[in-house]
Amino acid sequence: MAKHIFVTGGVVSSLGKGLTSASIGMLLEQRGLRVRLQKFDPYINVDPGTMSPYQHGEVYVLDDGAETDLDLGHYERFTNAPLSRDCNYTTGKIYLSVIQKERRGDVYLGKTVQVIPHVTDEIKGAIKALVADDVDVVITEIGGTVGDIEGLPFLEAIRQFALDVGKANVLYIHLTLIPYLKAAGEIKTKPTQHSVSQLRQIGIQPDILICRTERPIGQEEVAKIALFCNVEPRAVIEERDKEFSIYEVPASLVENKLDDLIVERLNLKAKPLDIADWRAMLQRIKHPAHEVTIGVVGKYIKHNDAYKSIYESLDHAGIAHHTRVVVRKIEAEEIEREGAERVLAGLDGVLVPGGFDYRGSTGKIDAIRYARERKVPFFGICLGLQCAVIEFARNVVGLADANSTEFDKDTRHPVVCMLDEQYAIVDKGGTMRLGSYAQKLVEGSKAHQAYGSLLVHERHRHRYEFNNQYRQQFAANGLLVTGASPDGQLVEVIELRDHPWFLAVQCHPEFKSKPTKAHPLFRGFIEAALARHEGQKKTTARNRPAVLAK
Ligand code: GLN
Repeated sequence: MAKHIFVTGGVVSSLGKGLTSASIGMLLEQRGLRVRLQKFDPYINVDPGTMSPYQHGEVYVLDDGAETDLDLGHYERFTNAPLSRDCNYTTGKIYLSVIQKERRGDVYLGKTVQVIPHVTDEIKGAIKALVADDVDVVITEIGGTVGDIEGLPFLEAIRQFALDVGKANVLYIHLTLIPYLKAAGEIKTKPTQHSVSQLRQIGIQPDILICRTERPIGQEEVAKIALFCNVEPRAVIEERDKEFSIYEVPASLVENKLDDLIVERLNLKAKPLDIADWRAMLQRIKHPAHEVTIGVVGKYIKHNDAYKSIYESLDHAGIAHHTRVVVRKIEAEEIEREGAERVLAGLDGVLVPGGFDYRGSTGKIDAIRYARERKVPFFGICLGLQCAVIEFARNVVGLADANSTEFDKDTRHPVVCMLDEQYAIVDKGGTMRLGSYAQKLVEGSKAHQAYGSLLVHERHRHRYEFNNQYRQQFAANGLLVTGASPDGQLVEVIELRDHPWFLAVQCHPEFKSKPTKAHPLFRGFIEAALARHEGQKKTTARNRPAVLAK
């Protein structure tokens, strides 16, 4: 019978519940257990696909095409647990299903449909949907903060869940903040006490508290938290801020024996922990041999989480090459104001990620022109590919007014246009070309060299595509299609001839990279950036006056 871990959060948002849940999943997997992870988000959108990255950060896409919360990205980077659309539920998605059932009249006919039991039953059903014969532990993270009105049905459902499956099969973990007050010169436990008391008022007694803190928590404070919150002192786990990387979190939880405690409390049959590979990876992060600087040119740069998986994938590729990747986050509009030469000087590589709509597109196109002409390694992703196509059309092929129909519906040269299947679609939610699709690569291309395979599968999220009518003209000028859908119709990868590394993809490779297994294309990009960096270093040394060179 599967066991259940529920992770809730208190005091403030953004404590890293997703990272902590992912870390717990990873530790249990490394103890030989088969885990599943799931997130509940209390907002009313059916999924985050219709939200601006400013609101929500990145939309993380799964193989099955589900548009999900970015915490699922942490789950995939830390564990091998398979993810599907059953792994992310919002209030909207739960209610949508309840209301559809009510309209069909097949489940609740004759009854008054209510939050308890109907909505809570629907939530419990979503948890049980992950239970299977090959699953030992289901970890369910409840988004938001205890005390939010929106979160109440989820908390009520997980309270009831222990009654359904037996308390011995359920563990409640509460993540809280222990702030340090500079003026008082000490850390404060009161917010944690209040947050746990709120949980207890709704009938949930947490079994384990994970305490986020800048400063170490002394024995005295641990005893105090334990007493006031009604948990054992060893169930008060310190999670100190990390100096180098988020990937240090699991190792620090091990130091505080969290895995032993979970195994014991849930009476799990587990192997001893083995995280040697993970620790070796952490050593590479802490002691890099090289450094490169990559410019990420986007339009949601101000929001730290808008390009989460891109930043993580760059780090992973750095780890693979013993290289620290310094990311320069560049607003595309800054390039429009200041010029590419000024803003992009000194970069070892330029990456243009995905995005939507016209704003910032001119800056992205200018950045790509700079990378193409200066032979700086360039990696375009989704909208990044589309902008590279527009740039090449305008500045090399000579189609001065070429554009994407996303930016200009009436352009004379629609080098990027809407996918045929999209024309009849009216609804915006969940209707893009989404999820995993196969693509065939051209033998000998940079993409083929990077992947080491001619057939690959990648995740997608787009409505527009390279317009095939221009394919010949582009090829004649040196921009080659090196990857396409198996029927050859949809352009997936383009590469430039006579450039050290100029590659763009229609897919989102950033959703399939792990710290212990960097994505091949990110690895190839960072390798090229590193080669440029080392080359530049040599040139500068050669040009330096003899006296200074000593
Ligand atoms: N806006 C573009 C499209 O819909 C690119 C999407 C993306 O970058 N994810 O095709």
